[in-house]
Amino acid sequence: MIDLAPDTRIYVAGHRGLVGRALMRKLEREGFTDLSTRTSQDLDLRDQEQVGSFFERERPEVVILAAARVGGILANDTFPAQFIYDNLMIAANVIHASYEHGVRKLLNLGSSCIYPKFASQPLRENALLTGPLEPTNRAYAVAKIAAIELCDSYRRQYGCDFISAMPTNLYGPHDNFNLETSHVLAALIRKFYEARVDGRPEVVVWGSGTPRREFLHVDDLADACLFLLANFSEPGPINVGSGKDISIQELAVLIKEVVGYQGRIVFDASKPDGTPRKLMDISRLSTAGWQASTDLREGLVSTLDWYRRAWKPPDTALSPPATARQAADRSDRATH
Ligand code: GDP
Repeated sequence: MIDLAPDTRIYVAGHRGLVGRALMRKLEREGFTDLSTRTSQDLDLRDQEQVGSFFERERPEVVILAAARVGGILANDTFPAQFIYDNLMIAANVIHASYEHGVRKLLNLGSSCIYPKFASQPLRENALLTGPLEPTNRAYAVAKIAAIELCDSYRRQYGCDFISAMPTNLYGPHDNFNLETSHVLAALIRKFYEARVDGRPEVVVWGSGTPRREFLHVDDLADACLFLLANFSEPGPINVGSGKDISIQELAVLIKEVVGYQGRIVFDASKPDGTPRKLMDISRLSTAGWQASTDLREGLVSTLDWYRRAWKPPDTALSPPATARQAADRSDRATH
């Protein structure tokens, strides 16, 4: 366990993403004063030399690895090479530099998609590497599994205090609302809101509506991260979730209500369903003493409010991408 004094130098990798921003809000609120950050323009985490000299200069004591190339089901399925390459490079460079420069604690963030497609539900941490992965995001998942293995190997061989937390599906302010690359919750907030404003008669929801997903507000994740940094030091992944799941159809109905949309919901069966169910077993974390506090409906209301007030399409979205590579580059590179 480490002492997290307010002047601990903490490097938040990926501070402009959904998770990184929530972490920054939380750390600032808790009085941490020595926070270190770089944008992806200033520091390319895929470049080993750049990462090495950044750690040499900054000497962080604690590292939170929240930088990743992330995206929803379609982006993962379309750009697997970029998802595996970028995430492998980011993890290898940051974890190795943390070891070389004596980082006291590193928190590596992953995702529930590391677990096998047909693992029994709720997903327990020991289901890791017990079966085939969901094909639509296998490339991303393999990179995230490699990151856990890196942390565990550096712990075993060098005694590093590196831990790995696996959040369930996240949402909240600064989510990615780009319909081609976003996850379902942000996509549906945008689709229902725009349909209401434009008076459209129906909203198209992908797939059959039967898959089940668990959602966690990103502020709850940030709270869990601080808890884990201070109180947890074990190898292997630890799940972070709300403990409750909901079908995509139920989610669509809930968002429709929260938005106040009156039209119809139509399912587009030509789009993939992905994993049939994703619910985390959170008993390890609950036993350690942490639980989520944001109710899904309340979280949807506040996220809709943020979307209406603050969301702006990125400039790059104004013109169509010329190549698949450019399209993938527009998927968020620093969020989870
Ligand atoms: P996943 O959790 O990795 O499968 O990723 P997503 O959040 O992208 O998708 C979850 C489920 O929601 C899948 O079954 C999707 O087909 C479904 N879904 C329904 N409508 C949408 C949508 O507009 N966007 C996305 N990304 N998924 C949708």
